[in-house]
Amino acid sequence: MGEDKREKLKEFYFQIKECMECELGKTRTNFVFGSGNYGAEIVFIGEAPGRNEDLQGKPFVGQAGKILDELLLSIGFNRSEIFIANVLKCRPPENRDPKIEEINICKKYLFKQIEIIDPKIICTMGKYSTQLILSTDTGITKLRGKVFRVNKRTVLPINHPAAALYTPSRFEILREDFRRIKMILDSYENQETVEDLSAGLLSDSDSGIKTGKGNAVSTEPDLQKSKNEQLGLF
Ligand code: SF4
Repeated sequence: MGEDKREKLKEFYFQIKECMECELGKTRTNFVFGSGNYGAEIVFIGEAPGRNEDLQGKPFVGQAGKILDELLLSIGFNRSEIFIANVLKCRPPENRDPKIEEINICKKYLFKQIEIIDPKIICTMGKYSTQLILSTDTGITKLRGKVFRVNKRTVLPINHPAAALYTPSRFEILREDFRRIKMILDSYENQETVEDLSAGLLSDSDSGIKTGKGNAVSTEPDLQKSKNEQLGLF
């Protein structure tokens, strides 16, 4: 099964690495597919490659990557145990925000990666990946720290590690979120249900967000279905 996933991911990489479907294909130095363990139980999703990522063709290799490594280490993980990818595979010039049309073209690649790896948990880092996977326009501030279900996967939105570069107090919030990630991963190993551990936190979503059931959130976030067709289907 593991080798099968590896072969499928490799094959997929060769299929899409020359992609020119949006304008970012013309300005990139390197296509950044993502990296890590093809059999990972948890996939982290960021926004788009930055300057260093574009130069090296790997995700999270700059300062934000160092913060991510530190946070992973704080829960006893390293990169070889997880998979990291971005919403966009090519760098937006001058690190500008991704455009909605770029996301809508590129998202199929991310969804395919998730389908192949088939993780139990998806950790979305920052606004763009969170809104894409949860099919919502709600801001990250309202979603971070909560636990969602999308197509039977557990989705944990957290702030983007780059946020801690400019606001050190956010590092503590990230550490707290990583402790929650570890708790949920452990729950799978102990065959407990996420609901048991997430009482008061869990929301439920199939394609888009619905009101939770059972141990639903007590402070229901103001979630709206996205009007921009960013469907979190995979
Ligand atoms: S950002 Fe995505 S859709 Fe655009 S050229 Fe790169 S791989 Fe293709």
